[in-house]
Amino acid sequence: MKFYAQLQLSLAAFAIVNARGPTVHRYSSTWSPSLLTEKSGKRSIIFDMDDTLYSKFDGLQSQLLDALLNYVGRKTGIYHENEEATPEMKQRAYYLMKDYYKTYGLTLKGLRVNNKNGVDFDDYDAFIKSELDYSNAQQIEGLVEMLKELKDNPRNQLAIMTNSCWLHVESTLMQLGIYDLFDHIFVADCHDHNMVSKPNPIVYSQVQHALGHANPRDCYFIDDNFSFVEAAQLVGWNAVWLNESAPQQDQVTPVEPEILQKGTVGHILQMREAFNELFSE
Ligand SMILES: [Mg+2]
Repeated sequence: MKFYAQLQLSLAAFAIVNARGPTVHRYSSTWSPSLLTEKSGKRSIIFDMDDTLYSKFDGLQSQLLDALLNYVGRKTGIYHENEEATPEMKQRAYYLMKDYYKTYGLTLKGLRVNNKNGVDFDDYDAFIKSELDYSNAQQIEGLVEMLKELKDNPRNQLAIMTNSCWLHVESTLMQLGIYDLFDHIFVADCHDHNMVSKPNPIVYSQVQHALGHANPRDCYFIDDNFSFVEAAQLVGWNAVWLNESAPQQDQVTPVEPEILQKGTVGHILQMREAFNELFSE
């Protein structure tokens, strides 16, 4: 009884029903896998959000990093209250941010572990939202049509899997006008003391289970972060790397077959070629 009750509790904590549209889930560090028989009978197309559902050349992600740097500087006392940060202060905050990211996988997690005054994550989420100019995120021409085509196929369900926190995710998707096109959205849990995120295999398992797939090959994934794609490949998902800096943006370019089975794409619309079966079956 104990195991079953715990499982039910952890699954209940994992899924939060959002009445307005997609079901919103938060990664849980206490989640444990269980045997799963196929539930959905569908294929899931899973998108990263930042620098994937909008172009990295829009600059929103670099604004996000600036805001994070600002937040780290303030919370650690490197930046002085009501005073412009000097280049030296910015450099110190930058190195700390990098160190947190490298050590803990997420800057925010490092900040929480090392900040004796604690970090209010609702405050963080609201700060990030207030610092960003979301009008910079532009809808990619042809993306809405591609998402609708995928969604119209009853065999498909659409999901987002991001390491960002909720307010930023909601604001970005609203700006892009694509919020309602997704069935599920998976976000980082900023309140979880042991925050887990991509590329930790546990979050890929959580997502696969929540989407109802016993077989990892029913998951199709695209992300601009190479290590997140590599982790998806390791758990058996079909995964492509979106590399907008690829020299040949008009082609699907195979790279290192032992690392990436499906290669890399220079533009998100090239999913049509990389995952041809999703559009033809
Ligand atoms: Mg990204």
